[in-house]
Amino acid sequence: MDSPIQKIEGKYHFYLKRDDLLDPRFSGNKARKLHFFLKSDLAIDTLISYGSLHSNAMYSLSELAKLKKWRFIYYAPIDEKALQNPKGNLAAALENGMELRSIEELDIDDPNRLSQLIQKGSTLLVPEGVRCKEAQTGVALLAKEIEEWGEEARVFLPSGTGATALFLQKYLSLQVYTTPCVGDERYLKEQFFALEPESRYHPTILPPPKRYRFGRLYKELFLLWRDLYQHTGVEFDLLYDPVGFATLLHHDMVDERLLYIHQGGLKGNETMIERYKAKFATIT
Ligand SMILES: *Cc1c(COP(=O)(O)O)cnc(C)c1O
Repeated sequence: MDSPIQKIEGKYHFYLKRDDLLDPRFSGNKARKLHFFLKSDLAIDTLISYGSLHSNAMYSLSELAKLKKWRFIYYAPIDEKALQNPKGNLAAALENGMELRSIEELDIDDPNRLSQLIQKGSTLLVPEGVRCKEAQTGVALLAKEIEEWGEEARVFLPSGTGATALFLQKYLSLQVYTTPCVGDERYLKEQFFALEPESRYHPTILPPPKRYRFGRLYKELFLLWRDLYQHTGVEFDLLYDPVGFATLLHHDMVDERLLYIHQGGLKGNETMIERYKAKFATIT
């Protein structure tokens, strides 16, 4: 599952690890995190998870379940409007046979803190965003590919749960930098501690230039995303990458010492672009 490393030149100068070019069903981050589940022979018939209705993890888990012929039940806050006319990740997951239930029906103690798999009989519950130690199998392969590249670089990837950044730092001798896109720095640090008690193994957290709320629309982020597209020819994701690049530019770190990990997630862009166009008449 090797992905290329591309040199970006022009207005922006950096190296880009194209994990977005891995299998479209399991692209980027989720390809790495689900590697363990794809390769192992789990004796289950039902997969359960939870999170947002637009999540990339939801979509990739629906592909995994389809491939393995498992039932897939997903708990989320129900948004009737989104369900009437599903798009992007939601449309694709429903098409794959995902059964949607209200998050209120999910019967576990503290879903926001769960960071391990729970298997009961033939049912497997995967924590939100696949933040569990099994995710590291695929992330270790990503680290190996970067080591084989052999350049001295500062490695950066934006974080949701932080699991990918954490495991990457665990397997990589280069310094890994990240920024929180969901929650703040304290939340991200807590997520790191849940998976790794020793803070010297944690990635370095770069604070974003301002607090961006996850999934909210910020005109400057859209303009940055579009500028990146125009000057690199690469489509980035609209949820995580603009916050990542805004942070890197703020810290003056976009240069030839940077290796940026493109973590995929482009299926989610469909709904994001539509929302941006509806909100800001001037950005089309
Ligand atoms: C899931 C996802 C992330 C966040 O990954 P974590 O391991 O939860 O930090 C970042 N970018 C994209 C595109 C994703 O799909």
